[in-house]
Amino acid sequence: MRLGIFGGTFDPIHIGHLVVAQVALEEAGLDRVLFVPAGVNPLKVGRTVTDGSHRLKMVELAIADSPQFGVTSWELDRPGPSFTVDTVEHIREQHPDDELFLIIGADNLRLLPKWKSVERILEQATLLALNRPGEDLKTSCQMVLALYPHINESVRIVDMPGLDISSTWLRDRLCHNLSVKHLLPAEVIRYSEENKLYDDSVSQ
Ligand code: ATP
Ligand code: MG
Repeated sequence: MRLGIFGGTFDPIHIGHLVVAQVALEEAGLDRVLFVPAGVNPLKVGRTVTDGSHRLKMVELAIADSPQFGVTSWELDRPGPSFTVDTVEHIREQHPDDELFLIIGADNLRLLPKWKSVERILEQATLLALNRPGEDLKTSCQMVLALYPHINESVRIVDMPGLDISSTWLRDRLCHNLSVKHLLPAEVIRYSEENKLYDDSVSQ
């Protein structure tokens, strides 16, 4: 099986994430994409992240009608910060015969050299890098290939139309009572409203 791993804070999940996962699935011929909501992102200090159980539930609602999408609470269930290398190695143990792909947006790719044990990640999984407005995806890919030249085919570009949508922008709209209709699945909007998740969100 060709398995895509898609980590993120998903606070909240939005159509940018869903399009990324769908395009990666099709363009890279994946059988399945596994969403991995992050525990505490070591690089995302400064704002309070919505409780993991809510972020997990929103992912579940968003992917409910996509049989090739799944979600795991593995990072949320562990104490402390989550590191992608630990997640990838865990999934490798669970799926020893699968070909692993790590789906990553261009902003995250630019930060890759800051991640823990990048080489170990790249030895286990091929990166599928997708465009994000405001980012220079090609330059970031070249940087990764130059830093880790001995790891063949460690990164592959997957084309997608730029969608200039972020959870930060959506939290800001929700906080100001502006509509987020069409930007996230209706069930996710309903859930976030019912649980008052972003009423006083302070975005950064
Ligand atoms: P925040 O504003 O809180 O950082 P976000 O929209 O960036 O939220 P994350 O959960 O941080 O979402 O991102 C998870 C993954 O999805 C990252 O690899 C990120 O690059 C990618 N991603 C998120 N939104 C987009 C988008 N609109 N286009 C391409 N990739 C995206
Ligand atoms: Mg982000």
